[in-house]
Amino acid sequence: MTVRTRADLDHIPGYVPGRSLPGAIKLASNEVSAGPLPSVVEAIGKAAGEINRYPDNGATELVRHLAAKLAVPESQVAVGCGSVTLCQELIQATCTDRDEVVFGWRSFEAYPVLVRVVGAQPRPVPLTGTHELDLTAMAAAITPATRLVFVCNPNNPTGTALRRQELERFLAAVPDDVLVVLDEAYREYVVDPDVPDGVELAKEHWARGRDNLVVLRTFSKAYGLAGLRVGYCVAPEGVAATLRKVYVPFSVNSLAQTAAIASLAAEDELLARCRDLVGERTRVRGELLAAGYEVPRSEGNFVWLPLGERTAEFNEHCLNHGVVVRAFVGDGARVTVGTPEENDAFLAAARSFELG
Ligand code: PMP
Repeated sequence: MTVRTRADLDHIPGYVPGRSLPGAIKLASNEVSAGPLPSVVEAIGKAAGEINRYPDNGATELVRHLAAKLAVPESQVAVGCGSVTLCQELIQATCTDRDEVVFGWRSFEAYPVLVRVVGAQPRPVPLTGTHELDLTAMAAAITPATRLVFVCNPNNPTGTALRRQELERFLAAVPDDVLVVLDEAYREYVVDPDVPDGVELAKEHWARGRDNLVVLRTFSKAYGLAGLRVGYCVAPEGVAATLRKVYVPFSVNSLAQTAAIASLAAEDELLARCRDLVGERTRVRGELLAAGYEVPRSEGNFVWLPLGERTAEFNEHCLNHGVVVRAFVGDGARVTVGTPEENDAFLAAARSFELG
């Protein structure tokens, strides 16, 4: 007799993270290249003295700080072990066997994997020819079996962002019993004024008596805490309460909670880093365009090179030049914007690639 795991899991590819190679420059995971702030490291050091105790299961203090920052009641904030875990918890909170989850494709790699792990059905909807989420097609893909729609804004990996009008039109078209998850992992890098702040958009949506919109954010990107795993969801009270039920007890650890609070206290400094990164993003994109690449305008901390069949070759070329990018073979390469020196190394590699 062997243990019987679920047969439907046999064919799930599993999440494939960006690679790290010793000595190489890693621009593969949309991390912040600069190290953590000294004030955050100090706070973690102090909290380390109490790791014999379980963390605060409700992350009370962190939730209080987030609620104050976002001007929402504490009952509308739920935290998670990274926003990827919140993605899974939101699927668990809405879907049972064979329910459907709609999302644009290509988008965040984890969506289809998590949907299938929960036992629901992924319904990917192709992007437009300009690498944007096709909200019209996504609305049309909703069926009576659809329980959840992921809208990644800005979209990982293409960097494109949806504007207020298109989002409002989409939200008006989605039935009330389908939850829309606006995944704003990269919100802090958005500069286009037409791209709405999801939390403000959600408040307006809720004020119309509609409670089917939630917003996901993370401390992994702009706040530089990818290694600690903490994200949050801003949701109507009922959805937030359900999220707390599906929450794996103690999954946001005490060091993560402390570091997130310390990062909020140092927010000005972290947001100044984001502005510097946006300057680099503009430079990197400009130089790539000048070198003949197609590069959609990005509102994230990365750029997308839709290289199609040449993606694998480009990936190898970058590796040979000591730069690790994220290749989606047959589709394109996503390159994180790093420090000016890291970006220069990547740009030198990109310029020496024969585009043909
Ligand atoms: N959403 C998107 C769009 C992402 O790109 C990522 C990370 N790559 C996540 C969610 C998950 O981030 P984390 O779990 O680190 O908060």
